[in-house]
Amino acid sequence: EITLAELEKRYGDTFAVEDVSVTIEDGELLCLLGPSGSGKSTTLRMIAGLETPTDGEIRIGDDDVTDRPAYERTTSTVFQDWALFPHKTVLENVAFGLKMRDVAKDERRERAREMLDRVEMGGYGDQDPTNLSGGQKQRVALARSLAVEPDVLLLDEPLSNLDKRLSEDMQIELREIHEDVETTFVHVTHDQDEAFTLADRIGIMADGELVQVGAPDEVYENPKNRFIEGFLGDTN
Ligand code: ATP
Ligand code: MG
Repeated sequence: EITLAELEKRYGDTFAVEDVSVTIEDGELLCLLGPSGSGKSTTLRMIAGLETPTDGEIRIGDDDVTDRPAYERTTSTVFQDWALFPHKTVLENVAFGLKMRDVAKDERRERAREMLDRVEMGGYGDQDPTNLSGGQKQRVALARSLAVEPDVLLLDEPLSNLDKRLSEDMQIELREIHEDVETTFVHVTHDQDEAFTLADRIGIMADGELVQVGAPDEVYENPKNRFIEGFLGDTN
């Protein structure tokens, strides 16, 4: 499990994250949902080790990782832009993280192939990623992040550059992949439909605080305050 305890990130006088406390269970898919500027990305980046908290604690299992750099954590991150290496093949892209972890070449290729199969990109290993569609690039990036077998996969608005139809398809696929790999996912989005489709639990963020955490129907039926009620009522 991942424990965030009174997490805080301040930039000068600005609190990007003010008070985030939650325990994320192993294998859970937690969506952090909230409007722009509410502190979702900052929270995710602290879990990844890409930002250092100004206060509070992060534990993964029994390890206090609060001051550990990203490369010493068992997290893997997928960003909005899904950048792939343009001069490597699809298979090489997926195998890249394994190379960094000193996995032998044959095993790298085998694991990369398996992962590509899982995201239904098995036939594309030899292709140049620049020839792929947006959705296909995202699948490859997802395979790349999962190939290293992280304890936690962190996703920051991975579907926000896709049109609605493709985003909805990918939501269903992400759900299936999540069930398949049994890894903890923390998925950031400002899109409530996406959060309600994907999440085991939704954590609602506002002004740097995690204001409510619960199963989708719980949050929907019993919004904890007016802000959440209003935010969920917004059909954007
Ligand atoms: P969005 O949905 O727009 O991506 P978000 O919920 O991910 O928003 P964050 O990016 O976490 O929000 O930002 C939270 C707040 O912290 C914002 O007010 C932002 O301007 C501020 N902030 C984030 N990063 C920095 C930084 N490096 N320096 C100063 N302020 C920052
Ligand atoms: Mg963000």
